[in-house]
Amino acid sequence: MAHNIDRRGLLVGGTALGGMALAAGFGADPAQAASAKAGSQVAGVQRLKVGDFEVTAILDGHIDLPLSLFPKADAAGVKRLQEEAFVPAGDSVRGAINTYVVNTGDRLVLVDSGSGALMGPTAGKLADNLRAAGVDPAAIDTILVTHLHPDHIGGLFSKEGAALFPKAEMAVHEADIGFWTNAEIMAKVPDDVKPFFVAAQASLKAYGARLRRIGADGEVVKGISSMHLPGHTPGHTGYRVTSGQGDLLIWGDIVHAAVLQFARPDWALAFDTDQDRAIVTRKKVFDMASTDRVQIAGMHLPYPGIGHVAKAAEGYRYVKSDWTYTL
Ligand SMILES: [Zn+2]
Repeated sequence: MAHNIDRRGLLVGGTALGGMALAAGFGADPAQAASAKAGSQVAGVQRLKVGDFEVTAILDGHIDLPLSLFPKADAAGVKRLQEEAFVPAGDSVRGAINTYVVNTGDRLVLVDSGSGALMGPTAGKLADNLRAAGVDPAAIDTILVTHLHPDHIGGLFSKEGAALFPKAEMAVHEADIGFWTNAEIMAKVPDDVKPFFVAAQASLKAYGARLRRIGADGEVVKGISSMHLPGHTPGHTGYRVTSGQGDLLIWGDIVHAAVLQFARPDWALAFDTDQDRAIVTRKKVFDMASTDRVQIAGMHLPYPGIGHVAKAAEGYRYVKSDWTYTL
């Protein structure tokens, strides 16, 4: 017999249950002992299937981006988008720092590493959450890096500069390696940007002989292909995970502030090495993902950062994926 719940059944059940609750609850002394508040979240670990592959979203933490980092945004437009998204109005927008582990069955791949100690106390929790997910850092074969910014590579190496993933190769687009190791460019940038170069170089040094340069788009691990998405950095790269009917584009930093940039893809981030190119790339990816209905994962989308892009009256909108009930 099918488990249809009809109106009558529900009412009958409700009455019966209600009667029991009344008898048990009212008049009796309810327990008054206060329960201690947890004060922290459960581990930032969520899984989904992509075909035969298992993808685990591992939270590194969060950062608040001051609105001054979006020089093209207007205050009234920001206020309206914050209202529409039911997030606090204010002079910053909150972004997650997400990383992803892809288990293809014969390879264990980590995409980005969060920020380590480089972005303050609200981030740098990759190691704890990997442990909670049951992932041994020594079991990671390949680390696919979307770009060499500190919130993506800070979790790769210790304070002393040692590789925290002792057996993994580190794969990075060659244009990012070229840019962040260029002494002439580093000499010309403002002082507050120099630490970006220092961190990028430290990550490359830690993996030394195990560094793999990614060139033209193509398969980097069986079932995972690189997609050069330049603008945010010269070598910024997405990774497309395909297995059977499953298809997930891990797009790195196509979006930094979901509340703002789906509706306004032209609101570039001050840290983009080429803002105009980043805008063109963002629009191109939005168009592709919405037209082809490709599931996407983003490093700064609200954790676990997995969803779809839909066309909207104003630009685009983000449709987050539901929790995966069975794997
Ligand atoms: Zn980032």
